[in-house]
Amino acid sequence: MDQEEIGKAFSEMWSQLSLIGGDPTGGYHRFAFSAADTHLRSWFRSEAERRGLTFEVDCNTNMWAWTDPAAVRVVGTGSHLDSVPGGGAFDGPLGVVSAFLALDLLGQRMEGLPPVAVVAFTEEEGGRFGVACLGSKLATGDLSPETARSLRDGEGVELARAAAQAGFDPSSFRPDPERLDRLGCFIELHCEQGRALRQPVGLASAVWPHGRWRYTFNGEANHAGTTRLADRRDPMLAAAALMTSARIGAQTAGAVATVGRIAAHPNATNGIADRVDVWLDARAPDEAGLDALVDSVDRVVYAACREHEVDLRQTRESYLSEVRFDAALNRRLQGVLGEATPVIPTAAGHDAAVLAGHLPATMLFVRNPTGASHTPHEHVDIDDCIAGVEALAEAIEALA
Ligand SMILES: [Zn+2]
Repeated sequence: MDQEEIGKAFSEMWSQLSLIGGDPTGGYHRFAFSAADTHLRSWFRSEAERRGLTFEVDCNTNMWAWTDPAAVRVVGTGSHLDSVPGGGAFDGPLGVVSAFLALDLLGQRMEGLPPVAVVAFTEEEGGRFGVACLGSKLATGDLSPETARSLRDGEGVELARAAAQAGFDPSSFRPDPERLDRLGCFIELHCEQGRALRQPVGLASAVWPHGRWRYTFNGEANHAGTTRLADRRDPMLAAAALMTSARIGAQTAGAVATVGRIAAHPNATNGIADRVDVWLDARAPDEAGLDALVDSVDRVVYAACREHEVDLRQTRESYLSEVRFDAALNRRLQGVLGEATPVIPTAAGHDAAVLAGHLPATMLFVRNPTGASHTPHEHVDIDDCIAGVEALAEAIEALA
C-alpha cells in the first residue's frame, strides 16, 4: 500500500465510524453499553473478521482481534472506542483504525502476519460511570470487579445492570493475567491532546501524576434579597476561592488545574445555596509539585470557609502516581522511527499507562494541530494519520 492507498482505506473506515454515536453539535456521545457502543462493537467485529483475525470479547467486555489465537509474545496495539460526552472523533478510534490499517500494510510487506492483537478497551474515558480506563484496570486487577459492578451512571443505573442489558455477564469480571501475559509489549497509538508535538509522530515518555478532589461546602440557604451580607453563610464564595486559587497554584507550579464540574443546591437564581460541590482536577510534572499545588489551594479554601462560616468536607476521589513508559521500548522504537522522533510526556491518562504497570508499554502520539481534544473540534490531518499508520506498522514489524 502506498500513502495514497492508506489514505483511501483510512477515509473509508473513518466515514463508516463517523455514522455511529454522533450528536447534534458535531461531536460524539459514545458511552459504554449504550446503543452507540453496540454499533461500535459490531463495527470492530466486522473489521476483525474481514481480515481473518480471531475476534473475542474477554471477561471484562474488552474486545480483541488476534492474528494468531495461540501465539505468545504478541505485540498488543489498539485503544478505545468510547468518548466523553460531546467528544471528538479521534480520541480513541484513531488508535483502533490505525491498528487495523497497520496490519493491512504488514500483510502486504510480510509473508504472513506477525503475532499481533488489536484491542478496544471498554469505558476508557469514564464518561458514563466515572472511572477512567475501566476495562484495562479490570484486566490488570487495578480495579476490583465488585467496585466496577456497583458504579452508577448519571441516571443512577448500575454498571452491572447496564452491562447485562447490553448482553454481557458482569459476574465474569475478574483480573485477566493469562491474556495479558500473552502480550510481549503494548503500543497504543493516540492523537496528541495538546500542542506539544510539532512533528507528525512522537513517542510518550510518561503520564503526569494526577488526581481528582471533591470539595463539599455546606452553608445556609436563604433569601437572595432579604438576607443581609453580614448574615450570610454562602458556600458559593468558598467555591469561588477554590477556583481562582487553583488557577494561581497551577501557574506557580507549572501544572494544570481545572474546575469543570460544580453542583449547587438548590441551584436557585434568587437563593443563597446551602450546599455546593466542586470537583478539582489537578495534574503536574511530578508528585511533589502536585501535592504543593493542592496544599496551596487548600490553604486558601480553609481561609475562605472560616471567613464565610462554611463547613467543608474534602475527599480525594482518585490519585494516580506518575507513570513512566518503557524506556528500553522507546529507545528501540526511536531506532526504528528515527532518532529525531520526539519523546514527550502527557497530562492525559490512557489504557497504555494502566498496562505499563504490568508489561512493557508505550504510546505513539500523532500530531494534533490545534491542540483541541474532548471537543467536536478535535482534529488530525489525514497526512499525519497516514504517517501514524506507517509508524505503527514499522514498530510492530520491528518488535514482532
Ligand atoms: Zn483516549
